Amino acid sequence: MEGNNQTVTLRNEADSENGANPTDLNVMFQCDFCQFLCEEECEMLSHLKQDVHSSASSVYATSKGKVRCVIELSFLQCPDAFFKKVAIVCPKIGCFKLFTSARYCANHFANHRPENVNAYGLVDVEVTENILYPVKINVCDECGYETNTMPQLGRHYYVSGHQPYALRPECVMRYICAYCSTYCDFHKFNRAVIHIREHFKKAGPGDTVKVMILSLSEDIKIIKFQPYES
Ligand SMILES: [Zn+2]
Ligand SMILES: [Zn+2]
Ligand SMILES: [Zn+2]
Ligand SMILES: [Zn+2]
Repeated sequence: MEGNNQTVTLRNEADSENGANPTDLNVMFQCDFCQFLCEEECEMLSHLKQDVHSSASSVYATSKGKVRCVIELSFLQCPDAFFKKVAIVCPKIGCFKLFTSARYCANHFANHRPENVNAYGLVDVEVTENILYPVKINVCDECGYETNTMPQLGRHYYVSGHQPYALRPECVMRYICAYCSTYCDFHKFNRAVIHIREHFKKAGPGDTVKVMILSLSEDIKIIKFQPYES
C-alpha cells in the first residue's frame, strides 16, 4: 500500500526576519510531532507526556518564536509514547520503515538517495495491539491446524484468511519486536514472529512472546527541516 504523501515545511520558511543575527536567537524546544514550541525543557517533557508525542528537538528561535534552525533533532525523548498515537516513518513511498527518533528516520531517508531532502514522515496510529504468541508451537487458533514451521503456518494464514489478530484492510499493518532496543519492525507477521523467537531460544513449550501490531493510517505527513547555517 502506498500513502498519499503531503509535504509540510515547518522550519526556516517564509521567515521575514532574515536579518536576525545568531546572537538574537534563543535555544528553545520544539515537538517533532505537533511543532509546539517552548523555552523550558521540563515544560516540553510534560507536553510530550500529556499529548503522547514521543520526541522534541532543540532549536534556535527568534524572540518572536520563529524557528530558524534545528540544533539537535529528537533531543528529548519520551519512550512511553513510542507508537501510541503518532508514529515516525520513512517518507519514501513503499518503504514505510518505523523509527523511534526523527533524527534516525531523516538519516535513513537520506540514505535512500543522496539528493533526498532532510525530512521524516509522520502517520497516525489507528490501533496498537499487543498479542501473546506461542514461542514453540505453530498452531492456528481458529481451526486448530498445526505444523512444524512458521513459514508453513504463515502460508495457512494467507490461504485461509485466518489470523491471530484483527486485519484492518484500510490501514498499513506493521509488526514490531519490542525486545530489540531499536524496536525493529516487519512488513509481515510471520517474519516478526520468527525474529522475536530468536530472543527466546531457551523458552519452554508453553511460553509466549509479545508481538506489537500497529494499524497505521496510510497518509504520510512529511516534515522537512533545515540544518543550521552559521
Ligand atoms: Zn507535540
Ligand atoms: Zn526508507
Ligand atoms: Zn486456521
Ligand atoms: Zn528483536
